[in-house]
Amino acid sequence: MSLTIGILKENKDNRVAITPENIRRSKLKDATWWIEKGAGAEAGFSDSLYDGLALTKDRNTILKEATVILTIFPPEDQDMASIHSEALLISQFRPYQDETVNSRLAQYPFRSLSMDMIPRTTLAQAMDVLSSMASIAGYKAVLLAAQSLPRYFPMMITSAGSIRPAKVLVIGAGVAGLQAIATSRKLGAVVEAFDVRSAAKEEVQSLGAKFVEVEGAKDDKGAGGYAVQQSEEFLARQRAEVQARASKADVIICTAQVRGRKAPVLIEAETINHMRHGSVIVDLAASTGGNCALTQDDKTIQVNGVTIIGNSSLEREMPEDASQMYGNNILNLLAHITKDGALNLNMEDEIVKGSLIKA
Ligand code: NAD
Repeated sequence: MSLTIGILKENKDNRVAITPENIRRSKLKDATWWIEKGAGAEAGFSDSLYDGLALTKDRNTILKEATVILTIFPPEDQDMASIHSEALLISQFRPYQDETVNSRLAQYPFRSLSMDMIPRTTLAQAMDVLSSMASIAGYKAVLLAAQSLPRYFPMMITSAGSIRPAKVLVIGAGVAGLQAIATSRKLGAVVEAFDVRSAAKEEVQSLGAKFVEVEGAKDDKGAGGYAVQQSEEFLARQRAEVQARASKADVIICTAQVRGRKAPVLIEAETINHMRHGSVIVDLAASTGGNCALTQDDKTIQVNGVTIIGNSSLEREMPEDASQMYGNNILNLLAHITKDGALNLNMEDEIVKGSLIKA
């Protein structure tokens, strides 16, 4: 049976799970695409751009009749109650952050696949929404910092005098951190970065930044590429090292996270008093508590002349490309879990095993 793939309008996000360009490029045989009215509008894709590619359907029809339902974040419970038993709902359920997800999904007969549970392996790289979105967030964080900074990023030698380049400190050199380093370097800043995974050192250095090493980090190669919780003793030494460098930095981009846990606090309130007037902290770890003790999620505050921006959803500031990339990740997943145009969920497959959170 060929697939009917329904794209829902998000309740709390400006992105859309599939763009017209995604559908145009899709290699799915005989699939019928349905889109809820206005689903792409906030990302810059009006209904008319889907003409000839997807049929506009009301939300209820998609919930009740589509074989595959695509969203960025899970629909509300009342929507879930309408989804039919044979459907596959693909979304980002974040079960590592929300303990209630599994029991909620268990109430319904349909299957659920969580994009953010796809293993971070080379094979699954093209389906990795966490990386696509983190990369956008890292880029945007630097642009936001540059915008808020009362100074230049690049070194300037002008007839009105010379200006030294900005100093950027990046805490956490995963996907977002590496993109923040690359973007800061392109803008001409001098960059240094921290991480607890030894693999990060070479990546940081290859981007032309200095890797700051704090001895004694716990690095578990069996943690699926993720960082593990560090000892309090290690974090205290790291905070002291951060404080010494923060006082010379113009910008700090915070990205350090430990999956499923509160983010480590690496910039203490006291550190802010040592920072330069006008300097900027962008904390991408804000939604899990923040790397800076004073960060407030979804808020920009000023403390002693330092701007602290708490935002863990900066990909929403670039909804067009974010949707395009999210959609490409989904298409790559769909290609992996279909055969001859029909769903083919092989429970022995590592990608399916990791991401099918409700079978
Ligand atoms: P993340 O968002 O979970 O964390 C961001 C960074 O914070 C990580 O690099 C982590 O090591 C670092 N961190 C945690 N505690 C820290 C501390 N106390 N001090 C400094 N840094 C700290 O990570 P992510 O960006 O989602 O990436 C997770 C891992 O997955 C990375 O190793 C990444 O390279 C890997 N990855 C692999 C693939 C692939 O092989 N295909 C694809 C994407 C990501």
